[in-house]
Amino acid sequence: MSNEQNEMEAASSKKLYQGVCDRFERIASFIDLDSKVHAIMSQPKAELMIHFPVKMDDGNYMLFKGYRIQHNNLLGPYKGGMRFAPEVSLDEVKGLAMLMTLKCALVKLPLGGAKGGIKYNPNDHSPEENQRITRRFTIALGDNIGPSYDIPAPDMGTNAQYMDWIMDTYHNLYGRKIEDKAVVTGKSVACGGSVGRASATGFGAVYCLEEWAGGQGVSLEGARFSIQGFGNVGSHAALKIEALGARLVAVNDHTATLINPDGVSATELASHVAAHRGVKGFQPTREVDDADRFWGLETDFMVLAALENTVTEDNAGLIRAKLIVEGANGPVTTEAEEILTENGVHIIPDILANAGGVIVSYFEWVQNRNSEYWNAETVDAKLREKIISAYHQVKTVSATRGVSMRQAAYIESLKHLEEVYLKRGVWP
Ligand code: GLU
Repeated sequence: MSNEQNEMEAASSKKLYQGVCDRFERIASFIDLDSKVHAIMSQPKAELMIHFPVKMDDGNYMLFKGYRIQHNNLLGPYKGGMRFAPEVSLDEVKGLAMLMTLKCALVKLPLGGAKGGIKYNPNDHSPEENQRITRRFTIALGDNIGPSYDIPAPDMGTNAQYMDWIMDTYHNLYGRKIEDKAVVTGKSVACGGSVGRASATGFGAVYCLEEWAGGQGVSLEGARFSIQGFGNVGSHAALKIEALGARLVAVNDHTATLINPDGVSATELASHVAAHRGVKGFQPTREVDDADRFWGLETDFMVLAALENTVTEDNAGLIRAKLIVEGANGPVTTEAEEILTENGVHIIPDILANAGGVIVSYFEWVQNRNSEYWNAETVDAKLREKIISAYHQVKTVSATRGVSMRQAAYIESLKHLEEVYLKRGVWP
């Protein structure tokens, strides 16, 4: 990787962390957050950084850098994804871990916040190498994770297969007990995962979108939308929105930008992406080189389901959608948000819009601990109820305090954490 690329990635991660801290600081002073709660929340409880060697298929060893940031465990065990991507950095996982604490508190889960990952690209390695990297990372993490202590889950670059490997490694290393299954969530259903976990983040975002549309008197039937990112979050969101009668008119991912006013079939695109790892080549004649056209397209709403910091002060002014749904974590920078607010673009913020993933992770954890298996209808109904209730709580705070949905979400979350800290006290 070039120095320039390295510097750009470092700047982007710093920006995410800075953005989360800035938003936290602003709300902390707005609600006059208790000073000790303020101090505790402003830093993670633990930052683990580990290097571990792994044997490659050619017999050589490569050294990998892994992270686990445990931000807060006041409400319950640390909880959050494992990201395997070349951009993973300390600042990025610190920012994302803090968002997890806020997210779990907002949707009232008995869970804290964490995030981790490995700085590498799984697509550059064989399945055997990825398995050895994952297992060796789990060994290096040791008892810093555990079903009652810190529970990882999938994030960018990981999926059920990686979670199965983590669970199996942990089980053989430590517990060999039935509760070891709950050491990670997002496992395959065969290995104890919950039905509905894979689609949960995307579906949760759509349930929030439906509430927004209902509140605005906007019909989703016939509405036009665009989506950035067609991975686990974006594809499930798009499929569900399509089923509600809206038309996908633009898609952008790391491989290409596709614009088709007549509509792109989310169902067909999902099969294409599964086979080709990106939207490129789906409708070659509809591919455009000019990313500004994607951002500037007139649509009813836009779903951001890719990376952090994709909407910045450089493209925020182009956006003409009425609403942005943040399926990704931190996709809109603080500077971009000011521009969007000025232009009247609504935002359903990340800690609310993408909370569906961790909500169903919580359901998976509960099922594992009780050796229960719920059916798809039960999981979906419980997800829907939980996220819609959080949506309306945020909406009420936003209306009564005259603040944005994001500010209201931060207020709700911090108020909950503050109440628990004040009741429990800080010991000793
Ligand atoms: N990685 C997901 C997130 O950012 C899910 C975390 C989890 O399920 O623990 O919310």
